[in-house]
Amino acid sequence: MLDTIPEDIQYNNTSLIIRWKDGKECSYDLLQLRRKCPCAQCRGGHGPVANRQTDGIQQIRLVSWKKVGRYALQLTFSDNHDLGIYTYDLLRKGCDEGTGYVPPDERG
Ligand SMILES: [Zn+2]
Repeated sequence: MLDTIPEDIQYNNTSLIIRWKDGKECSYDLLQLRRKCPCAQCRGGHGPVANRQTDGIQQIRLVSWKKVGRYALQLTFSDNHDLGIYTYDLLRKGCDEGTGYVPPDERG
């Protein structure tokens, strides 16, 4: 359980950095997080074509984040997009797997 509870959350111009309660530190590329935004608007429908509307984004910064309940982070990006809810479970999984954040619909 400790591996999906954040102890500390920081960000800079390029990355979101989460230190989990089990001591592991994970860094996430902001551009990937934005492109992989799991919200319905960004995913745009069904299947692998869905996320292409975010593929064109070349630059992004993080403006703020907030915790959603005990299970996720809501990120506000510099394009004023804040609909994405990034679950700790998938953030941690992506870090452990070395893929970075991968949204639910891109997981098998
Ligand atoms: Zn989105």
